Amino acid sequence: MRNALSVDIEDWFQVGAFETVIDRNSWNSRECRVEKNTDNVLALFDDANVKGTFFTLGWVAERYPELIRRIVDAGHEIASHGYGHDRVFNFTPGQFADDLERSRKLIEDAAGVAVTGYRAPSFSIDQRTPWAHEILAEQGYTYSSSVAPIKHDHYGWAEAPRFAFFPVAGSDFLEIPVTTAQFGPKRLAAGGGGFFRLLPYAFSHWAINQVNRRDGRPAVIYFHPWEIDPDQPRVANAPIKSKIRHYTKLGVMAEKLRRLPRDFQWERLDSVVAREKLRLAG
Ligand SMILES: [Zn+2]
Repeated sequence: MRNALSVDIEDWFQVGAFETVIDRNSWNSRECRVEKNTDNVLALFDDANVKGTFFTLGWVAERYPELIRRIVDAGHEIASHGYGHDRVFNFTPGQFADDLERSRKLIEDAAGVAVTGYRAPSFSIDQRTPWAHEILAEQGYTYSSSVAPIKHDHYGWAEAPRFAFFPVAGSDFLEIPVTTAQFGPKRLAAGGGGFFRLLPYAFSHWAINQVNRRDGRPAVIYFHPWEIDPDQPRVANAPIKSKIRHYTKLGVMAEKLRRLPRDFQWERLDSVVAREKLRLAG
């Protein structure tokens, strides 16, 4: 069973958890660490001989086109994470379409290859955005990995399927949600972010095993370049809960990530998507 390892490329000051305390107008004057951190992720993948999918902000592609090129040259998939990390449910359908077009153009110009995958910032495709998948399909995307089928304080669409599904009638456009684990009657978040970093590695290992063996499905795991950067600037006035989530265990994250390729097989999400489409169609 081959699983998908994905990276959401955004800088430490662009994360959803800090949006109430970091003014967007200050982004241009902040210390950018995303290029160096993403290069460190590339080195880590290279050491482990892993290919993955990098969902990048258009904002990052605009400033660091060579970084986007290096990702593609290393054999990874480049995909879109929107332009400026706006949540989809805060957009009108027209604004969402514009954001998709703007970010895709910037990423494709930098990458020199077509972008066919999308991940919504903060998993913000849910019951509030019944038009989102249709717009993605209309724009020629082949898949999205934007749904967290779970109840969480910042995101989640608890009623959504746990595994890949066709959200648009008459289209083979695929939604492949991030991984959850079923524990008795409870669905647990197990796709990454804080859960992978904060909980013991044994939990993630158990969850991926469950998904692969009991459910017979590939896992979709994600993390961020800032999660392997213990020296990033600290946001002093952020809510305490956000600070705990953001800053805990940054120093052990790289070592945890190195364990994943020893224990499981990984590949680009577009390859996993192609296999899931065949399975669902057959
Ligand atoms: Zn993000």
